[in-house]
Amino acid sequence: MSTGGHARLLVDPVRCEGVGICLHVAPEVVRSDSWGYPIVIDPTDARADRQADAAVRACPRRALLRR
Ligand code: SF4
Repeated sequence: MSTGGHARLLVDPVRCEGVGICLHVAPEVVRSDSWGYPIVIDPTDARADRQADAAVRACPRRALLRR
């Protein structure tokens, strides 16, 4: 799937504990499911790309990655 040249944002559901920091750091690329766990959206512009990188850095469980 093309993301306009931006790396995808992926979540490892085993590592994620639903702490929710990523939701606040990257509201354009992370949404919450009904249990508070993240649903990630592929970045499609530079602003979303920066938010995705910030979410990766902020996750205390290292559950987010770019690929
Ligand atoms: S910050 Fe990390 S552990 Fe917390 S909900 Fe997001 S991906 Fe999961």
